Amino acid sequence: PLGVTFQDVSFGYGDERAPAHQGVTFDVPAGGMVALVGPSGAGKSTVFSLLERFYDHEAGTITVGGRDIRAWPLAELRGSLAYVEQDAPVLAGTLRENLLFAAPDADEKELASAVARTRLDALVERLPEGLETAVGHRGVTLSGGERQRIAIARALLRHPRLLLLDEVTSQLDAVNEQALRDVILELAQRTTVLVIAHRLSTVRHADRIVVLEEGRVRTAGTHEELIDGD
Ligand code: ADP
Ligand code: ADP
Repeated sequence: PLGVTFQDVSFGYGDERAPAHQGVTFDVPAGGMVALVGPSGAGKSTVFSLLERFYDHEAGTITVGGRDIRAWPLAELRGSLAYVEQDAPVLAGTLRENLLFAAPDADEKELASAVARTRLDALVERLPEGLETAVGHRGVTLSGGERQRIAIARALLRHPRLLLLDEVTSQLDAVNEQALRDVILELAQRTTVLVIAHRLSTVRHADRIVVLEEGRVRTAGTHEELIDGD
């Protein structure tokens, strides 16, 4: 897994508004889990955009895996990370089709191949309880939480060394929220996870929670520390 550091990072989108990042500093240990929280417009998504190098930061230093982000060949950088967006689109087909679609070498005819099936079976085994039985069901009938978990599973097929996860905002019920939390925790065992969290309860076990506000880190700490501080 790849660790990440932001050191005094500044960046603006080049319009009239205040810069999206104004001296942002935090780090994500390799194999750890860090959550970004804060109000809309705080700069959370910008962290992801800079890590994917959709944009280049203007000042400060970003490292990924100990290497300056500008020193990474772009394809290698993007191949090492996976981004799961909010309300990730799920194909109208079955979950099985959704998962196979994400296999890096899967094409139409390969969907039926033994390799793809073996990989899918191995993946399904790791899915949270209850989801494996849904694998034959149609995507359109899934709840928001199930769709999010499938999107995560798809990203995992690529064996990312850094997972960028934009947690669903949509009203997850308690059962789905618990399931999502379990998946995130399980993921954190295997890769580095940087998650945009809309509910502190889903990231209670993050190594660290970084609170962004108006492009700055307002505070950071464990869930317990932040709850105590309020
Ligand atoms: P949020 O949930 O982060 O408050 P929205 O859900 O309203 O924001 O919008 C989606 C996010 O995608 C926005 O935060 C915006 O910054 C980000 N975004 C939209 N277009 C781009 C882009 N071209 N590059 C980077 N980020 C973008
Ligand atoms: P968050 O994810 O915390 O909601 P963002 O990182 O999306 O915040 O946005 C930080 C600031 O940058 C906001 O003022 C937002 O409007 C602006 N912003 C985000 N994406 C874009 C974009 N693609 N173009 C211009 N401004 C953007």
